[in-house]
Amino acid sequence: MKKQLVIALGGNALGNTPDEQKEAVLAAAGHIASLVKDGYKIVIVHGNGPQVGMINLAFELAYQQNSEVSVMPFAECCGMSQGYIGFHLQNALQNTFVEQGITTHVSTAITQVIVDRHDPAFQNPTKPVGLFYSEATAEKIAEARGYTFVEDSGRGFRRVVPSPEPVDIKEKGTIRCLMENGDVVVACGGGGIPVYRENGRLTSVDAVIDKDKAAAKLAEVINADTLIILTAVPRVAINFGKPEQKWLERITVAEARQYIKEGHFAPGSMLPKVEAAIKFVESKPGREAIITSLENAYQAVTEDNGTVICS
Ligand code: ADP
Ligand code: MG
Repeated sequence: MKKQLVIALGGNALGNTPDEQKEAVLAAAGHIASLVKDGYKIVIVHGNGPQVGMINLAFELAYQQNSEVSVMPFAECCGMSQGYIGFHLQNALQNTFVEQGITTHVSTAITQVIVDRHDPAFQNPTKPVGLFYSEATAEKIAEARGYTFVEDSGRGFRRVVPSPEPVDIKEKGTIRCLMENGDVVVACGGGGIPVYRENGRLTSVDAVIDKDKAAAKLAEVINADTLIILTAVPRVAINFGKPEQKWLERITVAEARQYIKEGHFAPGSMLPKVEAAIKFVESKPGREAIITSLENAYQAVTEDNGTVICS
């Protein structure tokens, strides 16, 4: 049986504006179609930084103009971004499949990712979102809405939200079912809509889950074979950007940990990817993760190109 893949698409696969995004997802669709043609079963996870930022900004500016506009919680903005990006991905994949005579169906699962309400991240919000405000305005908004603001390197005050760890994926059953059926599924967009469980109910919370961590958790809970994290570089490097830079081919979890210790991976960019890869690989024997670029994805999967992290 062909392998089941969870593919995390980086920011460079989406662009910033709706037009850019339409073009970018079409390119991504071409690469994914090659894998679908080969019989791989695929779930796609994507980022949403610029998109959720745009949606959040639109509501914020509309509210400033007209107080009858609702304040839109960040979790809802994340849900909207899943719909917006999922629509573009579905459309581009479907059109590409028709062109290439592929009969595979595509759908998007609005995905809730369960987090722990007692995750220490909730005591220490770190992820900046939204507009910059003066101290006085920030104080007023904080009072009215319970937001946390921090001063951002002289540019003003900006809201910060927590970045908790993903614990489980609410829609995993549906996603697994669709994947096993051979459908391409877009899921966990933007790292998923964060929800916590309380008294048997799920409640959303304004937070941002790292999309690479969410992809690793999804791959784990739907029992995928390989996690593929696509970004702007074809491989992970040690001494990245230095004259002695060296691209990595196949590394063990132990080697990856050693490189982390030595500080080879930048926090906020490559480090969370390597950490997500390690988590997935360690979740069950035989699992592998690949970090590579979109352009190199097909080669990486079929010829072990890219950086492979194994146990
Ligand atoms: P994405 O939008 O895909 O999440 P990021 O910009 O967050 O992308 O992270 C990927 C980037 O991390 C790469 O494009 C590269 O510039 C940078 N990077 C940092 N450290 C390394 C490293 N050791 N090896 C390769 N790339 C690295
Ligand atoms: Mg990133």
